[in-house]
Amino acid sequence: MIVDNACIFCRIVKGEIPADILFQDDLVTAFRDINPQAPVHVLVIPNHHTASLADMSGADATTLGRMVDVLNRMAEAEGVAQSGFRVLVNTGPDAHQEVHHTHFHLLGGRRLGPMLAA
Ligand code: 5GP
Ligand code: ZN
Repeated sequence: MIVDNACIFCRIVKGEIPADILFQDDLVTAFRDINPQAPVHVLVIPNHHTASLADMSGADATTLGRMVDVLNRMAEAEGVAQSGFRVLVNTGPDAHQEVHHTHFHLLGGRRLGPMLAA
């Protein structure tokens, strides 16, 4: 498995940095965002290091499929599967990607605002 020792999310996957981990299996880890933007704010990440979604492809279909399964499972567990939720993937500078390990944001638990805030 590709691991970047300087990457904070790789270190969360390995258990080197504490996080509120909600789910982990051989491919995917889900944990609460440290600075939640909504009542439910969970990050779903691949265990192996890729810098952004732009570095993933159909070759990662198994991992990406598992990430979708875990997103839906987390939405159910967090009680937002029926009320609705938003999945965000920031990719690159214009999207303000701050952590360069691919992650899906799962946001919900309140009426979310417009999709894009400038
Ligand atoms: P980005 O802007 O890259 O899409 O989002 C990165 C997210 O990671 C932010 O929402 C930020 O709050 C979260 N984050 C950054 N460092 C940590 C950390 O050490 N632990 C956790 N749980 N979340 C983090
Ligand atoms: Zn990483």
